[in-house]
Amino acid sequence: MTHATSVVILGGGPGGYEAALVAAHLGADVTVVDCDGLGGAAVLTDVVPSKTLIGTADYLGGFETAAHLGVRLEDHEGDELTRARAELGAVNARIRDLAEAQSSDIATRLGEVGVRVVRGRGRLVSATRVLVETDAGTETVDADVVLVATGATPRVLPTAQPDGERILTWKQLYDLPELPERLIVVGSGVTGAELAQAYLGLGSDVTLVSSRELVLPQEDQDAAAVIEDVFRRRGMTILNRSRMAAAERRGDGVVVTLEDGREVEGSHVLIAVGAVPRTEGIGLEEVGIDLTGSGHVDVDRVSRTSVRGVYAAGDCTGVFPLASVAAMQGRTAMAHALGDAVTPLRMSAVSSNVFTDPEIATVGVSAADAEANSDIEAVMMPLSRNPRAKMLGIREGFVKLFAYRGTGTVLGGVIVAQRASELIFPVAIAVQNRLSVDQVASTSTVYPSLTGTVAESARRLHPTQR
Ligand SMILES: Cc1cc2nc3c(=O)[nH]c(=O)nc-3n(C[C@H](O)[C@H](O)[C@H](O)COP(=O)(O)OP(=O)(O)OC[C@H]3O[C@@H](n4cnc5c(N)ncnc54)[C@H](O)[C@@H]3O)c2cc1C
Repeated sequence: MTHATSVVILGGGPGGYEAALVAAHLGADVTVVDCDGLGGAAVLTDVVPSKTLIGTADYLGGFETAAHLGVRLEDHEGDELTRARAELGAVNARIRDLAEAQSSDIATRLGEVGVRVVRGRGRLVSATRVLVETDAGTETVDADVVLVATGATPRVLPTAQPDGERILTWKQLYDLPELPERLIVVGSGVTGAELAQAYLGLGSDVTLVSSRELVLPQEDQDAAAVIEDVFRRRGMTILNRSRMAAAERRGDGVVVTLEDGREVEGSHVLIAVGAVPRTEGIGLEEVGIDLTGSGHVDVDRVSRTSVRGVYAAGDCTGVFPLASVAAMQGRTAMAHALGDAVTPLRMSAVSSNVFTDPEIATVGVSAADAEANSDIEAVMMPLSRNPRAKMLGIREGFVKLFAYRGTGTVLGGVIVAQRASELIFPVAIAVQNRLSVDQVASTSTVYPSLTGTVAESARRLHPTQR
């Protein structure tokens, strides 16, 4: 009788639990070791909480467009309502409940397919053995295949130590009993920008400290300009080209000191200056696994590390810090390790989204790629001309498409719109399947619809119609 391949997975986030499901499906004997809760940071502190919070902020934002759409909000005595308010205690309770429910759904799903879950902190003692420290003591688990999916944790600066009350990481936001009156957000990357706008929408007075010329420096610059403009119009204070030197509590508030000596006062500060991989102290280097200069696990496109039989997935690899990519890497690793058909990760077809309002959704090549390569052409169409956008009162946003000049193959796109995360899918299908602009343009769209502008953009890239 042959033995099932034994797989041990360190970390129960999307990189780990998706891999566990695939490995179990392929007949392996699977153990998941996790120290903080199934679903990982993605479910418990990062994706699910932030997107749920943003959901409430978006809902409140709807009241702002009410008058524009001809709606008058009244109380039961017919007096006009001028604002709606979020009760943060209730919002946070809902967030925590949702996160816990999702974590428990994952536990049920893993249980159903026979995956063993060990609650504890694991570390490699060899390429085929993991030592787990649990509340009850230590346990050793042997494995034919190991997957490291330990994620990342917020970067903490020595001069701005989080205290969980007023100086906060994004993981500590959901225990706040009341809305921060004056919130300073340090860092204008995706996390900083999303949360700054969410709290602004919930009613906080928000100051965003951004070290760059424009917020969201890693995103399409036309898109970032739209978002920065929306932020300012809605009343956010943005301090561009400003770097935090330190953050401290002073009186019953906080003071952020900038490198040029200016001081910014607030009631709370959220530090969102990036994340560091959780790869220290878990035996990786000791067993010969190569780490990059930033401490990430070095992996190839099928998630192999430098040690045979040991794979890595998700934020600990630094490939693209997204839950969707972590899951893809984990599934690919297991398919490779267990001899199933493997599709190597193709970063050029990964979709991502910034959940601001409007959202920025992106797939494939960027404007910078297009600028550097004269074979790539781009078209950008504002949504304000789209009939559906007009009906819905959408005034900002655009669709940008990139294609090969000669063949018309769609290479990428950027959509700035409400729910852009839902609209980018047709562009992603085109990129993934190397469709031409003509194929996209000749696909039927609903009239009126925002995706009409995707088809129209593709039409504009047809060589004979320019
Ligand atoms: C605020 C915020 C919002 C985000 N929003 C999105 C989004 O909208 N969409 C998106 O795709 N991505 C989003 N991300 C990114 C996403 O959260 C990560 O890419 C994702 O969590 C990575 O999954 P992972 O499995 O690698 O790690 P994690 O989700 O971090 O899970 C790792 C797990 O491993 C456990 N672990 C660590 N070390 C050990 C050990 N030694 N032993 C046992 N267990 C261990 C941890 O406790 C954790 O449970 C967001 C990130 C942040 C910060």
